[in-house]
Amino acid sequence: MTELLLKSSVDGVCWPAVPEPRGSALLAVLFQLEQSQWCSAERLLERQMRQLGLLVAHARRRVPFYRGRLKGLRLGPDGGLRRDDWLRLPVLSRAEIQAAGDTLSSGSLPPNHGRTSEIFTSGSTGRPIRVVRSQLWELLWSAFTVRDHLWHRRDMSGKLAVIRESGAGKAPYPDGTAAPNWGGSSSPVFDTGPSVGLNITCGLEQQADWLRRQDPDYLLTHPSIVHRLAEHCLGGGIRLPGLRQVETISEVLRPATRALCRQAWGVPLVDMYTAREAGYIALQCPEHEHYHVQSEGILVEVLDETGRPCPPGEVGRVVVTPLHNFAMPLIRYEIGDYAEVGGPCPCGRGLPVLRRILGRKQNMLVMPSGEERWPLLSSEDMSRFLAVAPIRQYQFAQTALETIELRLVVGRVLTPAEETELRRWVVDKFGHPFDVRLSYHAEIPRTAAGKYQDFVSEVAT
Ligand SMILES: [Zn+2]
Repeated sequence: MTELLLKSSVDGVCWPAVPEPRGSALLAVLFQLEQSQWCSAERLLERQMRQLGLLVAHARRRVPFYRGRLKGLRLGPDGGLRRDDWLRLPVLSRAEIQAAGDTLSSGSLPPNHGRTSEIFTSGSTGRPIRVVRSQLWELLWSAFTVRDHLWHRRDMSGKLAVIRESGAGKAPYPDGTAAPNWGGSSSPVFDTGPSVGLNITCGLEQQADWLRRQDPDYLLTHPSIVHRLAEHCLGGGIRLPGLRQVETISEVLRPATRALCRQAWGVPLVDMYTAREAGYIALQCPEHEHYHVQSEGILVEVLDETGRPCPPGEVGRVVVTPLHNFAMPLIRYEIGDYAEVGGPCPCGRGLPVLRRILGRKQNMLVMPSGEERWPLLSSEDMSRFLAVAPIRQYQFAQTALETIELRLVVGRVLTPAEETELRRWVVDKFGHPFDVRLSYHAEIPRTAAGKYQDFVSEVAT
């Protein structure tokens, strides 16, 4: 275990360190998280139901939107909620959040929840929503950020490089930005190394050049960026000798990307599942490639089409309830993603398992019969596809029920034989004689949230 270097705020004391009040609160939460991860699933659920009881009581009193909606909910003698009552509550959609406007915000907060701040999130659905958060919620956010560092044994004295959406014109090539620490979540408590950042909109060659010059210990970015960078580095013989681990956020991770990351740089990839409006949803298990729900901060339900919880092995809609954001409670919010429920983890943690995060409904293929399918693009599939022609980037877009547009960025003009072969691949892969149209682009654009999607359905269902 790497030694953690804590900052002391008391004059004349460096060891053991006594951090400033916010740092001390963060450590107090972390101390409990260290223990609660080993609690049984039943115990975790019982604790969640008690915390939800407090959230619901606040929402009924202080948040106009919930006054009628939560009326019938009964609280038990310990102030907790009953699970069967909970399952009858309606699910909250993104459209409802948009329509509710200010009525979803709390009229007043318990004073020790701190001041509030707001963010806007567009998601990938093009429906922007405003989310108000409290300082207390930010404390929990920080605790899960640090838990991820601890779970994956990061040496916080190392250098962290981040390639993500930074706002137009910010963190530009060739220098990007530099900070003396890893940011607000860990710096109040830990003596971290420096961090550097580059805007995600920079070109691939610029990103690779910047990384080579920075030679960081850790790289945090989107899976699609890792994938392309790893391919580029493999092809160009670019090594990152200092790199120890890659962390990914914000998009669906394909298994092929993990393998490519090892091949290119000889390091593991650690993925996480977060959302700006909901916080940390699940972190990768320290010992396996699946995810543990962060139950101390959020209730995660995976529901089938009839609203019943899915058993292990089934895929369903992800519905979340952050437990601590009293400023704007999101109660049973359908976040728009689909995930597969996993069984208990052999690592011994009681935190529920999500085996795979599958992405959004708009990333599902709609068959002409009306059936919807996940177009799982395995590494074997994609290596066959990429062997056909010099393809630099691709996106499959279902533009009509019977039509798939294959959007391509290519190294040279393709031959008619290669085009025919690609069409055949699409028909075989997606299991229907779709009308496959090829289109050529200088670049495949990202969504407003900076996400890259390799399959998108533009068919309304
Ligand atoms: Zn585990």
